[in-house]
Amino acid sequence: MAKNLVINMSKGIILKGIGGFYYVQTAERVVECRARGVFRKKDVKPLPGDMVEIEELSDGTGSVVDIEKRKNSFVRPPIANIDCMVIVAAAKNPNPDSRFIDKMLVICESKNVYPILCFNKCDLADDYKNIADVYRKIGYRVIETSTVENYGIDELKSEIIGKVTAFAGFSGVGKSSIMNELFSSLNLPTGDVSKKLNRGRHTTRHIELFQYDENSYVADTPGFSMLEFFDIELEDLQTYFPEFAHFSPECKFRGCQHLGGKQCAVINAVENGDISAERYQSYLDFYNTIKQDKEKY
Ligand code: GDP
Ligand code: ZN
Repeated sequence: MAKNLVINMSKGIILKGIGGFYYVQTAERVVECRARGVFRKKDVKPLPGDMVEIEELSDGTGSVVDIEKRKNSFVRPPIANIDCMVIVAAAKNPNPDSRFIDKMLVICESKNVYPILCFNKCDLADDYKNIADVYRKIGYRVIETSTVENYGIDELKSEIIGKVTAFAGFSGVGKSSIMNELFSSLNLPTGDVSKKLNRGRHTTRHIELFQYDENSYVADTPGFSMLEFFDIELEDLQTYFPEFAHFSPECKFRGCQHLGGKQCAVINAVENGDISAERYQSYLDFYNTIKQDKEKY
């Protein structure tokens, strides 16, 4: 039998990993690779989104030999090097959930991911506009879309060109519909939750990046677990609520965590309506979640 020789070294990005195989997109093709044992020894698991060096072998397969330093990485879903997150909410069916939006924004802020807030199904209702304005006022990029009346899609597309973008949002908000509109080649299944059950809601769905041009990738990543919060230090949490920064220097106590008291400028701003009460409530919720986790150890 002919020996399996190394015929080429190349670089690429991992699109997905299944059963010990990694599918690496190089400039030329997708190469099915195994990872060298060295990663197992170092306890490093290659992730979708990893930029890797591979040896291409004479039988057409490859071997991952090195992983580039990551910009960021996530535990659940397991993915690396996200540049941009499109947080998708629906104007209606299901109604927007501010706590979910805030959770995803904190994850983006803490991991250096550019967030875009996308309200989809805007053909169905108008009352989401108040919520959208809260986030616009803070300075977040908000895009309103409808895949039925077909608007907002080009605006979204221009934001994610040249990036690795994750689409997060509850089932039914229209993530697959939007992605199909963005990239006609994708053809993801859409529909109500029951139709999608076959896709395996209870089995772990693997994460897959889809390439739509040379440097642009998208992944469907419905939700991120609270695990991503537990790297956050309690005193850093406030920095992930960018609108607090305008007020916090005026707090009476240095290192104020804005948990109570008359002399807290952030709480005063909430009472005056300069900071959204919903956002402040998210801050308190997350603060307590992180605190309880730290107390476990
Ligand atoms: P996903 O679970 O987030 O991937 O959501 P889907 O893309 O599967 O969409 C869920 C349902 O909402 C489907 O029945 C879609 O046809 C519908 N839908 C998606 N986008 C829109 C929209 O902009 N307006 C309306 N009215 N319905 C939409
Ligand atoms: Zn304060």
